[in-house]
Amino acid sequence: MNNMDTKKSLELYEEALNYFPGGVNSPVRAFRSVHGKPLFIERGEGCRIWDADGNEFIDFCCSWGPLILGHNHPDVKQQIQEALDKGTSFGAPTRYGNALAKLILDHNRYIEKLRFVNSGTEAVMSAVRLARGATGRNKVIKFEGCYHGHVDHLLVKAGSGLATFGVSSSAGVPASFAQETIVLPLNDRKALSQAFETYKDDIAAIIVEPIPANNGLMLQERSFLECLRLKCYQQGSLLIFDEVISGFRVGFEGAAAYYDIEPDIITYGKIIGGGMPVGAYGASAEIMGHIAPDGPVYQAGTLSANPVAMAAGLAQLEMCLQDGFYEQLEAKTQKIVGTINAFCEEKGYPVQLFSIASIFWIAFTKDTAVRSADAIDGEKMSYFKSLHQHLLARGIYVGPSGYEVCFVSAAHDEASITQAINAFCTSLDLVFG
Ligand SMILES: *Cc1c(COP(=O)(O)O)cnc(C)c1O
Repeated sequence: MNNMDTKKSLELYEEALNYFPGGVNSPVRAFRSVHGKPLFIERGEGCRIWDADGNEFIDFCCSWGPLILGHNHPDVKQQIQEALDKGTSFGAPTRYGNALAKLILDHNRYIEKLRFVNSGTEAVMSAVRLARGATGRNKVIKFEGCYHGHVDHLLVKAGSGLATFGVSSSAGVPASFAQETIVLPLNDRKALSQAFETYKDDIAAIIVEPIPANNGLMLQERSFLECLRLKCYQQGSLLIFDEVISGFRVGFEGAAAYYDIEPDIITYGKIIGGGMPVGAYGASAEIMGHIAPDGPVYQAGTLSANPVAMAAGLAQLEMCLQDGFYEQLEAKTQKIVGTINAFCEEKGYPVQLFSIASIFWIAFTKDTAVRSADAIDGEKMSYFKSLHQHLLARGIYVGPSGYEVCFVSAAHDEASITQAINAFCTSLDLVFG
């Protein structure tokens, strides 16, 4: 990697290979899709991280989205330390859970009650169970290219033909599970209507990332999301917005408020925990009344609403509520995206950055919109591999896959943004010039 010393990271990686499959605890960390070796990160401060060899990077991965304030924010650290002084976990309610729930519910029009869990995956798994329990139906519609965590029956891709049930996309998921999931293309109303015609009385829910950001950034037209809303009302199904990325990211009330569409159930993760493992799902008091111990849908957690994690979430979300917080983030992102797009335009490079709020994605297309998975040309991802190496060598850390989006945090200051833009432009010259 262009003179960058990665000896210590390599040693740690060699060691980790003895302990973990692929040397990692989550597959994308292995750098396989960029044919590299993972960097082991030693510490982070603000918008920067340092690896085990002391290389410094401006970080646009931000732990895959959670760190909207950047690394090691003093308020977050302080509230964690205060909670920590009192103990780490009790398996009993604490005031910290109340405080975080109140902060969220007081500023969210779409949910009246919520339940904390420990990850986005857990939030989605529980939300789907709730939808099934509340409707007494079995099937769930999801969309190709939306990621909802590693829940068994959502690790499913489209089978052949329209409006058909899915086939599993992971070993270990029984075909019978996959058959409870209907996988449709995004932005395709006809396929949606056909699915409801075929399975009408058995569709418990539609689950969608309202801002699909796990397979590139596939921004949807509001009218498509509106159509999902209407279909669910008409058919007695529930609409689940998976806002694990978009929640507290595109605004405090997430994509629901961004598009002004009211889902029935919302899932959160990532930002909600301030860098600690937290997820949540929420809905109206009536729908949440189905959850145990009030109702018959079982869901539990030994470490759920852990006070240290709640404190971290509280500190972070309090900052998000400050005046102008989201406007400033968006302005920074627009600076990056606007400058790089103008550069690519001028040079005639087949690249463009798509963005929304403080999320951006490097796309190798000149198409004005990418709204579904089949609009992405997988062959072009070979450009990303090369771009990724040049970016790393110039001190820019982005997620190690061309299908991953980048995140801008409140800690990205003017100087680091200018430095990042220059590094992006130089790297693009090296790939396409
Ligand atoms: C990250 C993500 C998940 C899974 O969350 P984990 O905390 O990794 O389990 C689910 N849905 C969406 C939309 C996500 O981006």
